[in-house]
Amino acid sequence: MITGDSTVRLAKRALYTNLMPRSLAREQDILTRQASKRPPHLTSRRIGIHTSTAGGIHNAAERAYRIGCNTLQIFSSSPRHWAPYELSNPLCEQMLQLRSQYNLKPLVIHTNYLVNLASTNELFLKKSIEAFRGEVERALAVCADYLVLHPGSFRGTDREAGLLQTAAAIAASTHGLDLAQAGLTILIENTAGSEFSLGGSFEQVAEVIDRLRGIVPIAACIDTCHTHVAGYDLVSEEGIYQTLQHLDATIGLNNVKVIHCNDAKAARGSKLDRHQHIGKGTIGIQPFRILLNDLRLAHAAFIAETPIDKPGDDRRNVEALKKLVA
Ligand SMILES: [Zn+2]
Ligand SMILES: [Zn+2]
Repeated sequence: MITGDSTVRLAKRALYTNLMPRSLAREQDILTRQASKRPPHLTSRRIGIHTSTAGGIHNAAERAYRIGCNTLQIFSSSPRHWAPYELSNPLCEQMLQLRSQYNLKPLVIHTNYLVNLASTNELFLKKSIEAFRGEVERALAVCADYLVLHPGSFRGTDREAGLLQTAAAIAASTHGLDLAQAGLTILIENTAGSEFSLGGSFEQVAEVIDRLRGIVPIAACIDTCHTHVAGYDLVSEEGIYQTLQHLDATIGLNNVKVIHCNDAKAARGSKLDRHQHIGKGTIGIQPFRILLNDLRLAHAAFIAETPIDKPGDDRRNVEALKKLVA
């Protein structure tokens, strides 16, 4: 430290302590606050947010309800570690009971970010297939409706081979598991399309889906931030309708089961994937109003994956989306 002035040092320490509450995560957690006696106000759309499973997966349902959601997305394993959480047995029943009590539908699971089913490294591919099979097994164990997957990175090969590899690896990962019987559908998510990442265009997502049709229940998840930074126009009213038309012609709007509602920190076409609060980024509020009220998308679940910078940001973003439904 440069300064020898103890007063300054003490002042700095006090400030630092103020900025670092004992446990920020705990303070932000809605479960530590008193539950409202009234059920949350709901709209005619399914609206939710990616929700923490801290303390057990049943806590995610309780949190989602208290935040005011009628759908939710979770991780079934730590997003950036290979080892999954332990899932005990009667989870399906418990989750179905909680979800019917709280009117939470669908239950969406987002796959761990480490999985790369397009990997050209044999060992990493094997690890990814095993991990993804674990994701599918856990999704089945909690009676989830959807399992969202990023199509992967084609580093070391070309895009076309990468898309083929991803489709083949999904088929291999789900071999012998009856997803249709359990009502579980895998959703391929479009991505920001940076460097080697697959799924930066609707055509690429459609290609993976087409290859898996008849093999495994398969559809799409469209992320507004990814769509915008990948270069599609989601900002001007005319642009949104053109983008939706293009989405319909490639993937088909009926096949879009989940829409990740995220505003963007980066510019359109930048390929930089940084999520922002609804209405506070380069997309703005109006496009979300159009998407939420388009009847062709009324079947979809609208799920935010927005940052939590301050306690209550999760509830505010869900509220912001709900307010837009006419
Ligand atoms: Zn997303
Ligand atoms: Zn993203």
